[in-house]
Amino acid sequence: MKLLKCILTENDCYRAKRTIRPKGVMVHSTGANNPTLRRYVQPVASTPGREELLTALGANPNGNHWNRPGLDVCVHGFIGRLADGSVAAVQTLPWDHRGWHSGTGTSGNSANNTHISFEMCEDDLTDPAYFRQAYRAAVELTAMLCSQYGLSPLEDGVVICHQDGYRRGVASNHGDIYNWFPRFGMDMNDFRADVVRTLEGDKEEDGMVYFKTLADVPEYYRGAVQKAVDKDALKGGGNGELNVSEDLCRTLTVLDRMGKLDE
Ligand SMILES: [Zn+2]
Repeated sequence: MKLLKCILTENDCYRAKRTIRPKGVMVHSTGANNPTLRRYVQPVASTPGREELLTALGANPNGNHWNRPGLDVCVHGFIGRLADGSVAAVQTLPWDHRGWHSGTGTSGNSANNTHISFEMCEDDLTDPAYFRQAYRAAVELTAMLCSQYGLSPLEDGVVICHQDGYRRGVASNHGDIYNWFPRFGMDMNDFRADVVRTLEGDKEEDGMVYFKTLADVPEYYRGAVQKAVDKDALKGGGNGELNVSEDLCRTLTVLDRMGKLDE
């Protein structure tokens, strides 16, 4: 899964600066036929990596993206198409920020207080290839978050979609993702099982997350990885591709904190 980062700093939700202790992940889909990430995600002048992000996402000429004030919605991430047509995920809030994605349910409680959220950008819901790619990215993102926050995906109420949240009394009455997944024979039980499979695969193999280029490496690792590249200690396979694993990024970051990359 390619994971970019473009925090929606102009959104009122970001500006509210409330945090949560994540207890689960809520999967949404947009309910509108527009699979492009640029529809929702755009950098502003102060966004780190603005030029690269604009190139990767493509520019939204309509000004209706979510990186602006006056909206009452915000999620932690989006999955959809980049400008080149490939499918990727973008982080749009710090994972432990309190999002505005679920509304309040019939119990009076809200998954906004407990769940990390992301939107899967819908297309016209008829393309199996796009569904497969978006579904796969959603599984991998959820697995990453479960791993990062020590969440058990099969535990009751941990990995749920918006409609699941409604049924549980912690979200407004939206149908997502049941308007989409079942068209391709999938539901949230399949999704949770695939998250578990991905986490188990991670343990058996050497970690699923690889970053192709330096630009793909998440910002919090990038400084350390850059230093290793600058020292010619990390070369990848030529052609500008690093294919560096998240494990290695983490190791380099620890070494960097110890000052070992500045010697
Ligand atoms: Zn939703």
